Amino acid sequence: EFVTVSELASMMNVSATEVIGSCMSLGIFASINQRLDAETIQLVASDFGFETEFISAEVQEAIVEEEDKPEDLLERAPIVTVMGHVDHGKTSLLDYIRNASVTAGEAGGITQHIGAYSVTGESGRKITFLDTPGHEAFTAMRARGAQVTDIAIIIVAADDDVMPQTKEAISHAQAAGVPMVFAINKIDKPGANPDKIKEQLSQMNILVEEWGGKFQSQEISAKNGVNIEELLEKVLLEAEILELKANPNKTATGTVVEASLDKGRGYVTTVLVSAGTLKIGDFIIAGQHYGKVKAMNNDKGEAVTEAGPSIPVSILGFNGAPSAGDSFNVLLDEREAKQIAVKREQLKREQGLRTKKHLTLDEIGRRLAVGDFQELNVIVKGDVDGSIEALSDSLEKLSTEEIQVNIIHKAVGQISETDVTLAAASNAIIVGFQVRPSQQARKLAESEGIDIRLYSVIYKAIDEIKEAMEGMLSPDI
Ligand code: GDP
Repeated sequence: EFVTVSELASMMNVSATEVIGSCMSLGIFASINQRLDAETIQLVASDFGFETEFISAEVQEAIVEEEDKPEDLLERAPIVTVMGHVDHGKTSLLDYIRNASVTAGEAGGITQHIGAYSVTGESGRKITFLDTPGHEAFTAMRARGAQVTDIAIIIVAADDDVMPQTKEAISHAQAAGVPMVFAINKIDKPGANPDKIKEQLSQMNILVEEWGGKFQSQEISAKNGVNIEELLEKVLLEAEILELKANPNKTATGTVVEASLDKGRGYVTTVLVSAGTLKIGDFIIAGQHYGKVKAMNNDKGEAVTEAGPSIPVSILGFNGAPSAGDSFNVLLDEREAKQIAVKREQLKREQGLRTKKHLTLDEIGRRLAVGDFQELNVIVKGDVDGSIEALSDSLEKLSTEEIQVNIIHKAVGQISETDVTLAAASNAIIVGFQVRPSQQARKLAESEGIDIRLYSVIYKAIDEIKEAMEGMLSPDI
């Protein structure tokens, strides 16, 4: 006996009633919480066009994470991503912080670009930076199920404005629930006007502390290294509030940050440990790839033998290149790692590994019927600001006590690939008003199973979503 009727229903994205109906046609009168045997599961699943694959309990159990006692948890460094509009200074800021930490005399190391690096603030506490700036990378990792970032630095050039990608970055951080610290950059420039930036942020309901709000901000010059320590201290303050902790004394889990093939050394994979300690000799798996950790290097290029929570290391030993955002696990032996990798490879070949279907408007009613579906995330793109605001307001007002409608991002412009990635990461639907998706966005939406709805009349959009939500409200159980 494996899964219950309702679990099976939610795996297939159908209502429990439909599964019960299908059982009935097999002469089985099942209740919603009844466990079904393997044969029934197989028959019911094929009724809905699914193939069944039973992963053995042994294999599944191998990846169960060890539980922590409160006293096992120790403080860990925050992991930070820098996001903002193009040319506002993301790369300059990351470069300055990295170089400053090296010249500060950390044993004469030569910085290596391994996708992440860690630095020590003036107060002696550490911060880990993800070295791939931008919200696209951030959300792409999230779409793979990885929430790596603890804090986002949103950088805005003071000689420019809050730009479309600034707004995108803010939406992406907010959709992920990641706290933001604002870096108002290029204050060395003659035309710099930090107050104008704060004013424009306030129009988006982002109030910085000096304006009585909750967001910390710091005026900086990334190029000249002005006020960078102050910025880092503010990041550390934010981290304190988050009370980031992890147990270093267990087998490691974490996330792949990047991977590449090096001619001489084989696959080089940078990982960030989220809990436990990764050691040389560990058997490791990420995505469909596995191996034994043969060597590890830190962000200074030095060989290390182990890496604890929030420490980025590049490792040698994988039999392929996992994707950024894949989680990794350590297993007891190589045979086990291989077994799971092979299973995943098979799954991927058979069904594109995209077993997790995303939300569509038509499925809202079913989803509610099978589980606790309480939030409808929507991305609104449109041709003009006025209609986007009107549509977003009306959609949010459709919220009831049972279902909250969240507009996680709204902007003028065509529906982009980034919008689709955000939808995938946040399980959202996309509503386009008088705009269409780009070619690439359409393709990505197809492969990710993202629902894009296009309208040219506002009330039609509202009516259709309202109807879907009413379906939500009256589950046919
Ligand atoms: P990114 O596209 O956000 O990564 O931006 P970059 O870091 O590449 O910066 C874009 C341009 O702005 C480069 O020419 C930088 O030298 C310049 N820049 C970045 N920060 C500052 C700054 O604080 N002051 C001045 N004057 N220029 C800056």
